[in-house]
Amino acid sequence: NWDLILYVNLELVNKMSNRRFIVKDMLGQGTFGQVVKCWDTETNDYVAVKLNQKFDPDDKHNIVRMLDYLSFQNHLCIAFEMLGQNLYELLKRNQLRGLKVKYVRAFSKQILDAMVVMRDAGIIHCDLKPENILLAPSVATAAAVKVIDFGSACLEGKTVYSYIQSRYYRSPEVLLGYPYTTAIDMWSFGCIVAELFIGLPLFPGASEYDVLQRMMTILGGQPPDDLLREAKDTGRFFKHVGSIFPGSEAPDGIPSAYRFLSEEEIETRESKRPKVGKWYFPRLKLDRLIYNYPWNNSELTEETDRLALVDFLKGLLEFDPNKRWSPVQALF
Ligand code: ADP
Ligand code: MG
Repeated sequence: NWDLILYVNLELVNKMSNRRFIVKDMLGQGTFGQVVKCWDTETNDYVAVKLNQKFDPDDKHNIVRMLDYLSFQNHLCIAFEMLGQNLYELLKRNQLRGLKVKYVRAFSKQILDAMVVMRDAGIIHCDLKPENILLAPSVATAAAVKVIDFGSACLEGKTVYSYIQSRYYRSPEVLLGYPYTTAIDMWSFGCIVAELFIGLPLFPGASEYDVLQRMMTILGGQPPDDLLREAKDTGRFFKHVGSIFPGSEAPDGIPSAYRFLSEEEIETRESKRPKVGKWYFPRLKLDRLIYNYPWNNSELTEETDRLALVDFLKGLLEFDPNKRWSPVQALF
């Protein structure tokens, strides 16, 4: 059925037909690929086979390789290439004092390269964090990383869940309940780059309120009024104080129709006071953090390099998802 073949991944279909399954019909289009009706020549019965969309087919863009899969006692088991430690483990190995700047740079480029491919495919990873970036066997002597764990990924425009991303890496639009795009991955990426440099998470909030408060202290400003007006959970964190008048100022003095609630004002279901957690982390402005962090291992000495890093982070950690850099913008 050539009409059918046009719809599905030709290469996969050929391989499947040569082996166990004979493709008979197209059943539907899922989130990540097509589902086809096949005749299973081993069990002599019809089965529905899901073909996953393939991105990065030539293994050039720092995304983990899937090698094979099997079904074992009704569990789907997926075999991936063997990779090394994750970046959180690497940071711990360095006493949480950050990586040398040449590694921060190299890893950032490689992650961005993966993010360009994901964005082109319309895939939102939804869980970028150091635990989901793994050291790969290095090419020559250069260190390399790969992005793993597409278990929470979804397609742009077909987003289903609102409770996504790990809290420290959660973007403002997800915190506030605003329709999200691949830009949420760029926010997480900004948090990761800062963490690789500093050695500790940038926004280790004990609650979502605490995460937002840390963002606003460290970055200055607050999410733009347009976003606050349209997001469905704004009321959890902000009070609408009407049109712009004195007394309604964002932390950096920009007039706003929304005021961030004080700890006394937030609902009791939010964790009010951040617990004294395992992280000691100063709430300094971003540039002071990058300039003055005392326990830094980065070997970043040039003033202009520090300025460039702060600029880079500010492009990624932009409250407004429409102004936030895309992966391609960040690469150049
Ligand atoms: P989950 O969705 O439960 O977070 P992950 O795919 O992120 O699952 O895997 C959990 C952890 O297992 C990772 O943080 C990493 O330390 C380890 N791991 C996952 N995939 C690999 C791999 N291909 N090679 C080596 N370690 C891996
Ligand atoms: Mg994971």
